[in-house]
Amino acid sequence: LKPPPVTRYNLNNVTITNTPIENRENVLVLTPMARFYQGYWDNLLQLTYPHELITLGFILPKNKEGNAAYAELDKQITKTQKYGPEKDRFKSIIILRQDFDPPLVSQDEAERHKMQNQKPRRAAMAKARNSLLFTTLGPDTSWVLWLDADVIETPPSLIQDLAFHNKPLIAPNCFQKFYNSEKKKMDERPYDFNNWQDSPTALKLGESLGPDDILLEGYHDMPTYRTLMAYMAEDGGDVHYEIPLDGVGGTALLVKADVHRDGAMFPPFSFYHLIETEGFAKMARRLGWQATGLPNYKVFHYNE
Ligand code: GDP
Ligand code: MN
Repeated sequence: LKPPPVTRYNLNNVTITNTPIENRENVLVLTPMARFYQGYWDNLLQLTYPHELITLGFILPKNKEGNAAYAELDKQITKTQKYGPEKDRFKSIIILRQDFDPPLVSQDEAERHKMQNQKPRRAAMAKARNSLLFTTLGPDTSWVLWLDADVIETPPSLIQDLAFHNKPLIAPNCFQKFYNSEKKKMDERPYDFNNWQDSPTALKLGESLGPDDILLEGYHDMPTYRTLMAYMAEDGGDVHYEIPLDGVGGTALLVKADVHRDGAMFPPFSFYHLIETEGFAKMARRLGWQATGLPNYKVFHYNE
């Protein structure tokens, strides 16, 4: 009788470098998905990082909306993986379905951004991200790219551009294109306000809160005076210009897999009065990893 096989991995041989293509580094692209947008999939397909080094991981809610998104996602996966050109095909794809208790009801943009809805919503999102991360991170993963399902436009070289900076966590600036009726033309505005630098006001405000209370960004009732990366973009500015960040969003974020392996995750509870992706940046910091932002490197969020 043959003994059961043992697989050995030396994590020191999994390189994480600023030349990931040359070193054949595996990238895990993780997306929590409540709705499917064709623009998201089309954008994913046009990424020039070698697809045979990319694993995709999704988590979708087990409700009516999630079922509809799953059906569309499944259709596109079959089209690409089975019938599409070889170069378009990804290394592997993992899809998780998950129920939350209580179920996270679908909400439109205005509803989900209401302040009283934020804590339970962000806690549920944190759990979804953690489930996705802990079930998909492999012994050969070098990088994790968090990419929301409604990010519909990025430069094709997104992964290698971000990795080039060789930072433990790095976030591009997430904007939204819209029709400006005053200017009578297409325009763009900042979208993700969770990429920020801390302020003395926010820290003091945190001290005044109860242990389970969280600070939220982008609400007039809670002025934090943090410096928001969303407002730091400059026309024609250097896309490689780096700033340190204390909080990050999840719309697009490249993370060295070692940061997650060290134990940094998305707290679904108040962690230093921060939750989910913002709490993740704080936890990474406590583990010795500093987040970086690129104010002039833009990606675009769908306009609902
Ligand atoms: P916002 O852009 O910050 O308002 O947040 P979104 O509603 O876009 O959510 C962020 C990401 O999580 C998107 O990719 C959504 O599709 C996804 N998402 C939203 N709600 C759920 C949920 O209940 N379960 C799962 N698995 N994903 C969700
Ligand atoms: Mn979104």
